[in-house]
Amino acid sequence: MDEALLKQRFYDIEENYKTIMHNLSEAAIKSGRKPEDVRFMAVTKTVDSIYINHALSLGIDLIGENRVQEFLGKRDELKLDGVEKHLIGHLQTNKVRQIVGEVDMIDGVDSVKVAKEIGKVSQKKGIITDVLVEVNIGGEESKFGLDPSQLYETVCEISEIEGIKINGLMAIPPICTNEDENRKFFANMYTMFLDIKAKKLDNVSMNILSMGMSDDYASAVLEGSTMVRVGSSLFGRRVY
Ligand SMILES: *Cc1c(COP(=O)(O)O)cnc(C)c1O
Repeated sequence: MDEALLKQRFYDIEENYKTIMHNLSEAAIKSGRKPEDVRFMAVTKTVDSIYINHALSLGIDLIGENRVQEFLGKRDELKLDGVEKHLIGHLQTNKVRQIVGEVDMIDGVDSVKVAKEIGKVSQKKGIITDVLVEVNIGGEESKFGLDPSQLYETVCEISEIEGIKINGLMAIPPICTNEDENRKFFANMYTMFLDIKAKKLDNVSMNILSMGMSDDYASAVLEGSTMVRVGSSLFGRRVY
C-alpha cells in the first residue's frame, strides 16, 4: 500500500471527524440539548479495516454495518474493545441466525416476521436482543421500513415477542428531497417517537431515535435525532 496515500486518508478521516463533531455539537445545542445527548455512529460498510481502526482510534465508540457477511468477515481485524456494534438497515430473515448475539443492537427491524425470527433465535441462545424498529418516513414503496400508519400497532405486536427488546426507532427519509422537506420528515418522525414513548408500553424503551446520515445529519439533530449514522462524510465516498 502506498504510504503517502494511507497517511492522506488517515488525515482526511481525522479532519472529517472534527468537522462532523463540530456540526453535531452545534445542532445539538441549537435543539436545546447537550452535545453528548446525540450519539455518533460511524457507518463502516465497504470500508477497509485499517481505516475503520483509525477512526476508532479517534474515540468513536459506535459502528454500524449493514451487511451480515461483511461484518462477520472483517470484525476480527477490528479493534472493537469498548465499541458498540449495530447492524443497520434491512435484515433478511434467513440471515438472522448468523447475526443474533454478534452485535449489540439490530437497528432495522421492519416486519413482525423478522422480529419473530430474532426473538426465536435469541431465546435459543438465552439472550435478549435489543432492536430499533425501522420506519419508512417517506412512504416510498422501494424502501424498507414500516408504514407510519401501522407503526403503533406493529410496535405493540413486536413488544410482545419474547427474546427481543425495542429501544427506539430508526428512519431513513426519501432521497432527493431538499433540506426543508427533509426537516419535515424528521419532525414527523420525532412526533411519532414522542407519541409512542408517551404510551409507556411494556418491554419498550423509546430512548433512541436514529435518523440523519452524511447529507442531513444536522437537520435530523435539529429535529430531535438522538443518533446519527454517518458513512461517506467520515470515510469518503464509497467506491462500490
Ligand atoms: C450506508 C448507510 C448509512 C450511511 O450513509 P452515508 O450517506 O454514507 O452517511 C446510514 N444508514 C444506513 C441504514 C445505511 O445503510
